[in-house]
Amino acid sequence: MLSSELLFTGTQVNYYFICHRKLWLFSHNIGMERESEEVAIGKFLQQKSYERMEKDILIDRIAFDFIERGGKIIIHEVKKSKKMEKAHVYQLLYYIYYLEKKGIEAEGMINYPLARQVKRIKLENEQKMEAILEEINRIVAMEEPPPAQRKAYCKRCAYYEFCWGD
Ligand code: SF4
Repeated sequence: MLSSELLFTGTQVNYYFICHRKLWLFSHNIGMERESEEVAIGKFLQQKSYERMEKDILIDRIAFDFIERGGKIIIHEVKKSKKMEKAHVYQLLYYIYYLEKKGIEAEGMINYPLARQVKRIKLENEQKMEAILEEINRIVAMEEPPPAQRKAYCKRCAYYEFCWGD
């Protein structure tokens, strides 16, 4: 069983690999993500490309895009592009880790419908995942957000004005 202080959403794990400040802002309900065009496009692709699969499964605070059953559970994540691949991979590894802590064997599959590509994901290093969750916990518990640091991603981030506006 996963301890409650290490129970995060897949989005939080994803943001850990994108920007620690974004992770903190999102985790403290300073939410602007709904306004992000990127997210809207992602949701559209999800609906459009995989209509026949089971979707939007929610266990605890963890929401899976899609699940197929057939001996093993396969969790599907739909992503627009490979630009943030490491974040996508760890988001899915976290879902697999979470299910394995509940005694459910799982694998992951990242779908890139625009590129017509699929990437299979298996959890091979549980300790590494645990170290990442401890680190997320440390960042989220900080009293102030980590300082903004310019990166290529900033211009596409929903917090751009918040971080860099006048
Ligand atoms: S705008 Fe840049 S620094 Fe600010 S939260 Fe987004 S990625 Fe992080």
